[in-house]
Amino acid sequence: MDIKALKGVGEKTASYFSQLNIYTTEDLLKHYPRKYDIYEEPVRVADLEADEDLEGNVVAMEGVVIKSPDIYGNGKLKILSVNLKDENGDAFKVTFFNMPFLKNNFKLGARYIFRGIINKTRKMWTFEQPKLFTRAAYKELEGSMMPIYPLTKGITNNMLTKLVSGLLKEYEERLEPEYIPLWVREKYELAEHNFAMQNIHFPKEFDDYINARHRLSFEEFFLFILATLSLKSSKETNPNIYEINRLEKIDEFIEGLPFKLTNAQLKTVEEVRADYTGPKIMSRLIQGDVGSGKTIVAIIALLEIALNNYQGAMMVPTEVLAIQQFESLKDLIEKNGLDIKIELLVGSMTAKEKRLAYERIQSGEAQIIIGTHALIQEKLEYKDLALVITDEQHRFGVAQRESFSNKGRRPHILVMSATPIPRTLAIILYGDLDISVIDELPKGRLPIKNAVVDESYRDNADKFLEREVKAGHQCYVICPMVEESENFTGANVIDYSKELSKRLPDCRIEYLHGKLKPAKKEEIMRRFSKHEIDILVSTTVIEVGVNVPNATVMLIENSEMFGLAGLHQLRGRVGRGDAQSYCIFMTGKKSEKIKKRLDILKNSNDGFEIARKDLELRGPGDFFGVRQSGDFNFGIADIFADAQTLKEASDAAKLIYDADNNLESDENALLKEKVIEYRGKVLDKINI
Ligand code: ADP
Ligand code: MG
Repeated sequence: MDIKALKGVGEKTASYFSQLNIYTTEDLLKHYPRKYDIYEEPVRVADLEADEDLEGNVVAMEGVVIKSPDIYGNGKLKILSVNLKDENGDAFKVTFFNMPFLKNNFKLGARYIFRGIINKTRKMWTFEQPKLFTRAAYKELEGSMMPIYPLTKGITNNMLTKLVSGLLKEYEERLEPEYIPLWVREKYELAEHNFAMQNIHFPKEFDDYINARHRLSFEEFFLFILATLSLKSSKETNPNIYEINRLEKIDEFIEGLPFKLTNAQLKTVEEVRADYTGPKIMSRLIQGDVGSGKTIVAIIALLEIALNNYQGAMMVPTEVLAIQQFESLKDLIEKNGLDIKIELLVGSMTAKEKRLAYERIQSGEAQIIIGTHALIQEKLEYKDLALVITDEQHRFGVAQRESFSNKGRRPHILVMSATPIPRTLAIILYGDLDISVIDELPKGRLPIKNAVVDESYRDNADKFLEREVKAGHQCYVICPMVEESENFTGANVIDYSKELSKRLPDCRIEYLHGKLKPAKKEEIMRRFSKHEIDILVSTTVIEVGVNVPNATVMLIENSEMFGLAGLHQLRGRVGRGDAQSYCIFMTGKKSEKIKKRLDILKNSNDGFEIARKDLELRGPGDFFGVRQSGDFNFGIADIFADAQTLKEASDAAKLIYDADNNLESDENALLKEKVIEYRGKVLDKINI
């Protein structure tokens, strides 16, 4: 049903809902809670003193009134202040605004449980406007989990809770048929679909929530795998229709590189060249952690394709990266005296620039094309496209990968990803691709040195940047924001670079962010690459792919505001050359919790390990908010937290597929409908 069919949802509310991608009642039910408000056991003052993370958060406390309350304030504002003690006899305070009538509730000796945000003001632990419960009422609620939904302007949590609970009541009467075959549910201990829906929103107890979540993540993986299995079978049969030969010029090019390829790179280059000179169309994934040297493999392939008189194109997720790859490839082609024309294509070029680029691509004058998703524009036609490469594939959707491979006459496909997942999981998730792994860093790389510090280290940080610049190196500083904002307090690129320039007048400092014009971004990146800039203050636009080996310092401001996976990618921008590199995680807020999280990064350089530890630390209440980055945006499942479920879903999907690959049996009829629906509606939205 359209969301507007619900009582109380009109045009205006519907437009707010569209901000959350909710258009139908089904979308609404799939809008899962971000986390839950768990009514925990009341704490005491001693607990508050012992755990600094409790301050500023919601807690419950039980207390006995030790003094008849005062009302003070004047005219408009009346403050009711109640003094209490907990069971240890330690004092705390509760204040209410403009609710003088509550005074009668707080007779001497009365006992209540309060729940709200606790803060220490003037040495006294104080609740402002907490909720008030009798002991019996609180015991009823204790342990229950109330949903907290992702929200947007115009949509409150209360409203969502009511709408979802109303829908679920209706649902109970018209059960949706179960579409996962019974034997699968039994074998993998999966809750029934409707139970899962009910209990993901309103779990009566923790176990119900776990069961609901297990079922729903299984279902997501299961549908995803069934949908992609059919992609693979359609590709396996495609013959190689291009005449591509191994060229000596390419061997010479590899020989002439300023470095020796690692064994892992050599093996991968070999696999790729064997693919496109072989009998079948290539569909290959290259997996390798940041800095492992994936780009050179792509370049070798692009050059060999171009020298065979075909076109090759490489798509990257950001303009900054497109520009950088373009510039460095152009240099490389010139240095090697190769006769190859390359073209840049990004979304924000002017209409005229684009038209000219389109013409050169269509006529075949452009042999290698580098760009953003502008490369998959429908209007764009290629002359003779034989190879498409997607860099940082985890930033694109399956559908984008598909449209790229539908350009031309079904070109060879190469995708590259730095997502730190073990090979076993990669085989499942990228089921339709062959996999090469670059599991070796270039020789001579020193491990990056890490430090987690706060504002008190500011002077040292400045001196450190200055020292590295004097030594001939370059630095990145990352700020979470572009400019000053009312809603956030983190550092911003524009003000920060002004202030830093004052403090370090001898350094050449510039800033970069996503909102700059492409020509400006291009200029800044080029100047940074050529070492005409010493310190680049930037937002996370440089997070993926950017490569300036002379940069040795990555200083990240307000690092508590970033996800660990994102921080790992940012750190990957340094340590790309022979010199010792450093990563400084600066935090704006002092807290044990934040420090513990960042220590994970400090102690490990292994992306998968980092993701796993991050999850462990968060614990189950936080399960939901965990999105490692923009990658793998399944609705509820998380490939790190649910790795086991992913394996099971894959086994189940294979069993079904092997027995009935078109899902034609009666038993699989409902499943078939679901898979078709999924392929049409959901698959596009998964970044993989
Ligand atoms: P990523 O895998 O993160 O995309 P890049 O391909 O950008 O990494 O490579 C990182 C840096 O390492 C680049 O400066 C590249 O020129 C350099 N590099 C790549 N392979 C080697 C090698 N075998 N030896 C030394 N440096 C290398
Ligand atoms: Mg890269």
